[in-house]
Amino acid sequence: MRKWVAWEKITMPIEQGGLGIRSLNLTLKSFRMKATWNILTSSSLWSTFMRNKYTQGKEISTIALTSNASKTWRDCWRCIQEVIDLSTWDYGPGNFSVTHENWRKTGCLAPLCVPTDCDQITLQEAALVNFNLPMFPAEVQRCLMEEYYQNKSTSRTDTRIWMHTTDGKFTIKSYAQLIQGNQGRQGIFRKIWSSWIPTKVSFFSWKLLKGAIPVDAAITKCHIPIVSKCLCCTQPAEETSRHLFIQSDLAKPVWAHFNDLAGLAYASNWRTHVTLQPALKPLQKVLSDAMGTWGEECPNFFLNYGISLSHKGTNLL
Ligand SMILES: [Zn+2]
Repeated sequence: MRKWVAWEKITMPIEQGGLGIRSLNLTLKSFRMKATWNILTSSSLWSTFMRNKYTQGKEISTIALTSNASKTWRDCWRCIQEVIDLSTWDYGPGNFSVTHENWRKTGCLAPLCVPTDCDQITLQEAALVNFNLPMFPAEVQRCLMEEYYQNKSTSRTDTRIWMHTTDGKFTIKSYAQLIQGNQGRQGIFRKIWSSWIPTKVSFFSWKLLKGAIPVDAAITKCHIPIVSKCLCCTQPAEETSRHLFIQSDLAKPVWAHFNDLAGLAYASNWRTHVTLQPALKPLQKVLSDAMGTWGEECPNFFLNYGISLSHKGTNLL
């Protein structure tokens, strides 16, 4: 069965060109991370029970998985290191491992330490001896001491802080965003889902941007040999997305109509050569902003999908 858009792309956030549907794998992982976060931080009955049963006050990152551990604990245990790496501490006393917790916000110290048998030392204990410990090279001891006093709070307790929310509490949304990243944002994808656009138009635009409209050329690409002839022109041509939505006898008047309404002249570069009709001068600022956005996005919008804008032999982009 032909899939026009890959599931991995559909599950991306909408501003990255997906439909904003979270994949089941990511959803499941997010909930496991949340459960692990709760075990480490919450005082609920379940969290207290899990802590008492499995961690028993031991340094969390040194706990081994036993063969009789429950499925829930196994799942959570596999998330522990990730939770530690992605969280930090608002610390007063510093009763947590100096080497296995990310109290400096730049990663745990364990990989940088000289291996010794005293890696169970807490931050508080390390600070008492000014980090003068054999596991730390002499040149970093001073830096650690400075960082310790710089970040130490006046609080009487230590609180684990999730680094990816403003209130320091774990949320599934923040974790999902972190995993999916925020690279490749394209404003055009956010705009097509604006509330004033009918949903079916949004979906149609999305399919057009993704090259998922089954025009003849797209069907031919699937190795289905067909003879293509468009129905929109007096002189029929091959039916491609570019032809159907940009160049055809049907599309050209639509583009021309809206160009005229906005007072836009055809030019080789929309961003720098837009000329406004006198009546639209008051709208210049608004339109120029809009055209700036258009100018940035339009080339990607069309070129990504093998479409270039041209009219009467003049390239519009
Ligand atoms: Zn045509």
